[in-house]
Amino acid sequence: MNRREEFAELISITKKFLEQERDRGMEEFMQSLEQRTAETQALDDLARGVKDCQKCKLGETRINLVFGAGNPKAELMFVGEGPGFDEDRLGIPFVGKAGQLLTKIIESIGLTREKVYISNIVKCHPMIDPHHPEMRGNDRPPAQDEVAQCLPILLKQIGIIKPKIICTLGSPATKALLNLSEGIGKVRGKFYDFYPPYGGFGKPIKVIPTYHPAYLLRDPKKKSEVWEDMKKIKEAMKTGR
Ligand code: URA
Repeated sequence: MNRREEFAELISITKKFLEQERDRGMEEFMQSLEQRTAETQALDDLARGVKDCQKCKLGETRINLVFGAGNPKAELMFVGEGPGFDEDRLGIPFVGKAGQLLTKIIESIGLTREKVYISNIVKCHPMIDPHHPEMRGNDRPPAQDEVAQCLPILLKQIGIIKPKIICTLGSPATKALLNLSEGIGKVRGKFYDFYPPYGGFGKPIKVIPTYHPAYLLRDPKKKSEVWEDMKKIKEAMKTGR
């Protein structure tokens, strides 16, 4: 893809995203104004504090640090592995093809992106070949040292938002929070207790791992398992158990 085509594609993704946001209408807009609370302020302060982060090499090649997006008082939080090509360009998590699928998954249980909070274990785009940032498909999972440097930001976000449930998307996010040794196929769909180090939690947060939407794009047969996991989340949100 040449630079002109790449630019045209980026404009088209941005346009689609803005149209989706506009279509959500005035009600969501009013809701977002009401959400300007202490949590919003604390997240803004945290974001400001990390915006120039250079703690790992991803800082050298990123276009945007992708902090997170959604409701600062969300009861449900989704955690992915790290921004990709589109997210790096827009500074918003999960806006590419996998992101569009995540939006549908969220909507399948009667929620919207604005009602939940979406973030990642690392905030900058991990690339296979950082010398070619213009290349699509140049994504890789974050390395251990990158996760170690970046995870405190996510843990602080969790401490501020205090979600009741966190859904980890894929293996790297699950391992980073729960430190489980088994693969995602074994651990998904079950609730695990997680005691966040920040925020003074009296009781644990429930963490439920599921497949990453990018994996579902490669293997759509797994969608039914994610649907089962989403139903469990919906039920747990309703009953508080
Ligand atoms: N994949 C992720 O894990 N996170 C994003 O923000 C986008 C794609």
